[in-house]
Amino acid sequence: MVIVIGGAGYVGSHVCKYLGRAGVRVEVIDNLSTGNRSSVLGKRLHVIDILNRRDLDSFFKENAADIDVVMHFAAKSLVSESIDDPAVYYRNNVDGVLNVLDAMHKNNINNFVFSSTAATFGEPEYLPIDENHSQKPINPYGRSKLMVEEVLKDYSSAYGINSVSLRYFNACGADPENEIGEMHDPETHLLPLILQAASGRRSDICVFGRDYDTPDGTCIRDYVHVMDLYQAHEAAMRELITSKKKGAFSYNLGNGSGFSVQEVIDVARKVVAEDNKTIKVIDKPRRCGDPARLVADSTIAKQELRWIPRFAELEVIIRHAWAWEKKVAGL
Ligand code: UDP
Repeated sequence: MVIVIGGAGYVGSHVCKYLGRAGVRVEVIDNLSTGNRSSVLGKRLHVIDILNRRDLDSFFKENAADIDVVMHFAAKSLVSESIDDPAVYYRNNVDGVLNVLDAMHKNNINNFVFSSTAATFGEPEYLPIDENHSQKPINPYGRSKLMVEEVLKDYSSAYGINSVSLRYFNACGADPENEIGEMHDPETHLLPLILQAASGRRSDICVFGRDYDTPDGTCIRDYVHVMDLYQAHEAAMRELITSKKKGAFSYNLGNGSGFSVQEVIDVARKVVAEDNKTIKVIDKPRRCGDPARLVADSTIAKQELRWIPRFAELEVIIRHAWAWEKKVAGL
């Protein structure tokens, strides 16, 4: 059995649905602080807060014999919030994970898949960013995730907990069957905000900065489909279960091609025009802490996890996200 902590959230819910589809037994732990019960899709849900050691310990004690792998998605993930209130980030994203790892260790559960992030790298020194790139995060969110990557190395050598940390670049898209999708509140990510401007759930999309050192002046990011993230989690799980992976491993997950904010808006405009929708754009100054370009080199994930992104095309990513936005907006 796989325990998915944070399985009611955006990436976690897609991983749960499709692990279930692949015949894997899945149960969810979530405190429902940002996740949605409706995203759990019939999986068994244990409403437990990872900061509650007692509840966590008794869950793991009761279920230890059945648990093969723990996947951890539960985290606070807003960069600006992490700057304003770092304590919440270190408490949830570091302390919370330590509680999980300690409960695993006590109960002899040794396989862990961890959601990490491109934010562990900070300002890129070269592109695309591979696993050898230095990790100098520039905000508490990135630092909290990097701290856990470091903890995992020590827990592997001392306690034999084997782990795979998957560093997502810009996760986006939605379930191609349109049952689940991105549902953050507040929403801060570019693509859902663009599509909400198209559906009428908001009036416009703000472009944060047109004076970056990029061809059109807007920031470049590497957008990766949530289904491709699922595939990477499944591969990591299988590597751990078959004991091929012993140690603490980290992989970058992106498509290796960057798109500017303006390019994302242009492709979205083309997609929503099929429904006679338009997108109003407002130019704003730069948002604090945004690097001009972030693009992943995922060669190692492709080699070692045999990860093959199936939804790498930006237009496909946007089509799936638009189908979901139309459903949420009642269009
Ligand atoms: N962005 C934007 N307007 C928005 C939200 C984001 O112009 O309303 C830009 C942001 O400055 C960045 C890119 O879109 O360059 C992706 O931002 P997002 O918050 O989606 O992900 P991040 O790259 O920060 O993880």
